[in-house]
Amino acid sequence: MTPFRRLLRPVTFSGRGLHTGEEGSVTLSPGEGGGPVIEWEGRYLPLYSCTTSALGRGTDLLLPGGGRIKTAEHLFAALSGLGIHSVRIGMSGTEIPALDGCSLAFAEELLKASEPLEDGEQPAPFALAYPLEVEDEERRSLLAAFPSRDLRITCLLQYPEKPIGTEMAEFSPGRDDFLRDIAPARTFALKSELDFLRERGLARGGSLENALLVDSESVQASGGLRFPDEFVRHKILDLLGDLYLLGRPLRARIVAIRSGHGLHCRLVDRLKSLISKDNLPYAKETRHV
Ligand SMILES: [Zn+2]
Repeated sequence: MTPFRRLLRPVTFSGRGLHTGEEGSVTLSPGEGGGPVIEWEGRYLPLYSCTTSALGRGTDLLLPGGGRIKTAEHLFAALSGLGIHSVRIGMSGTEIPALDGCSLAFAEELLKASEPLEDGEQPAPFALAYPLEVEDEERRSLLAAFPSRDLRITCLLQYPEKPIGTEMAEFSPGRDDFLRDIAPARTFALKSELDFLRERGLARGGSLENALLVDSESVQASGGLRFPDEFVRHKILDLLGDLYLLGRPLRARIVAIRSGHGLHCRLVDRLKSLISKDNLPYAKETRHV
């Protein structure tokens, strides 16, 4: 069973954004039931009503009525991994702080500020009733979702760079320990693409304090790699963060092959369309397969 928690008090995170390099902060406050809500210029916007742009190297939220929040995925992975769904997310600035380049700093604070929910208080998940897939033929990447009793993720990552190569890992929030197994896995960049990224206004807040730097033969990592397969664990972290955009917990078996934020967001859009087609309210309804 997936663990769920209730936020007890506001928690604020401040720091530079990974891509803009600009200072910003985000405050998470206890919600009033239902799913996550974004506070933006005096408006309260359900997270599921936001669209996304994943053309860069992260996931940006496009808010209804205007506004953009960059690089939400590592914070959302922490909320997803801890099972915190009733939350208000208030922004100052345009990018979520990078902190340590993974979900550990977010998750440790959120854990201290929250408590487990009782059985009868669990948020209603969306249970997928039939298989779905999205793919990018050019990149030979695929993301498939199948009906399942719980959320389970299998991820395969493949890079020509020798230090990464091919890695595969599995994670299930109900079986594994998000804080131990996934949250510490840091984001990474290829040295060969760093100039390209910075010319496009990306990775400007990146450093060895919050990212792994990979060249053709070696990895620069502060303190060394935290796991032999830290790269694929970070891909699972990104996927958990992007699935949080659904606005409610998901019950599905997810298989991700060489996927990235673009495919993740396409799957979330497909899932959202299923929910709205069936007129399933986000806050209450549960479907069992
Ligand atoms: Zn990431």
